[in-house]
Amino acid sequence: MKYDLIIVRYGEISTKGRNRGKFVEKLRKGIKHALSAHRSVKIDAGRDRMLLLLNGEDSIEVSKKLKNVFGIQSFSPAIRAERDLTSIKAAAHGLMESVYEEGKTFKITAKRSDKTFELDTDGINQMFGAFILTNFPGLKVNVKKPDINLLIEVRKEAVYLSCETIHGAGGLPLGTGGRAMLMISGGIDSPVAGFMMMKRGVELEAVHFHSPPFTSERAKQKVIDLVEKLSEVSGEIVLHIVPFTEVQQTIKNQIPENYSMTATRRFMLKITDAIREKQGGLAIVTGESLGQVASQTLESMYAINDVTNTPVLRPLITMDKTEIIKIAENLGTYDISILPYEDCCTIFVPSSPKTKPKKDKVIHYESFVEFEPIVARAIEGIETIRVTPGFSGRNEGLDDLF
Ligand code: ATP
Ligand code: MG
Repeated sequence: MKYDLIIVRYGEISTKGRNRGKFVEKLRKGIKHALSAHRSVKIDAGRDRMLLLLNGEDSIEVSKKLKNVFGIQSFSPAIRAERDLTSIKAAAHGLMESVYEEGKTFKITAKRSDKTFELDTDGINQMFGAFILTNFPGLKVNVKKPDINLLIEVRKEAVYLSCETIHGAGGLPLGTGGRAMLMISGGIDSPVAGFMMMKRGVELEAVHFHSPPFTSERAKQKVIDLVEKLSEVSGEIVLHIVPFTEVQQTIKNQIPENYSMTATRRFMLKITDAIREKQGGLAIVTGESLGQVASQTLESMYAINDVTNTPVLRPLITMDKTEIIKIAENLGTYDISILPYEDCCTIFVPSSPKTKPKKDKVIHYESFVEFEPIVARAIEGIETIRVTPGFSGRNEGLDDLF
């Protein structure tokens, strides 16, 4: 079937009252980004729905891309008919023919935003129900749970017909939820955490700590690749790479071994918070999941979180590893995450980190070392990269924000 347009429904954003205009505009941008390879598509953004005029673009390809856009509740490929009964009948016939199978059930759902049309919704339902039954005697009516729901929408400019409703990704349009800093390791969890925040409309910047020469260029590249995957969802993501060797070595030399992991996490959070402040972010996102490892007990989080009042969002906190892996696989980050390159935390990790560290103790241990200049040097050395889809292939876009 050759469709003329796709009708996009908003879902949650339709409840946002006064902000609706802004939400619709962000969604329009999100769709435009996702459809950048389909230049002929024209977007007609209305208050309650969007019409994507295909202008010859392939509806199947466009649909595939729309499925990943946050803020879309559902969408339907549709055909356009003039506002006279003969044209509408011809369109309905063509559409039903494309999905017809003997024994299937159907119903008609009419909508009429233009009250000047000659039939009301009941009238349309009855007339087209009878018309379809006459032309497709193999079909039966079922108004409760039909196989085919033929939507006929009468609008001022034309009539749109569709018989398929495709589920969208849900969530909120990107950029409607403020900006947050994603702490990204090379692991499985943090990219998934980032993805889930994007689903709620949050725009991300990424922060990664690396410790050369203990961590390699390949380990750094792996993180860039992960951020690049995330950027396919959102467009450009700014990535801050923090040189962390001096901080980690100082901790290793000066802090009792069973508290080194707690101190390490505290400094990571502190530095991330400094970047957040400079960049105008409102929250920090991590891939922590309760009880997964020693640093992810409530006692640990309590001792680590103490360094900042900034909201630390942990979208995976209640999830099992298997659930997280499933999302990583769908997102396409899993295969990158499982590459075996060393992480700055794993190489310095003590053999028996405290699972129930005490906040007062870690503060006490840290107080013997003058960490401020070391932290300042780490921040000074930050390398900032703007990562976009295809970034690694092009290897450009390096600059320094600090
Ligand atoms: P992940 O799979 O994301 O690495 P994990 O289960 O391995 O998570 P940890 O290694 O304990 O857990 O890390 C917990 C969280 O701390 C990570 O999800 C990430 O948000 C942050 N984090 C860990 N290492 C780094 C790093 N090198 N740079 C930035 N953030 C990090
Ligand atoms: Mg990890």
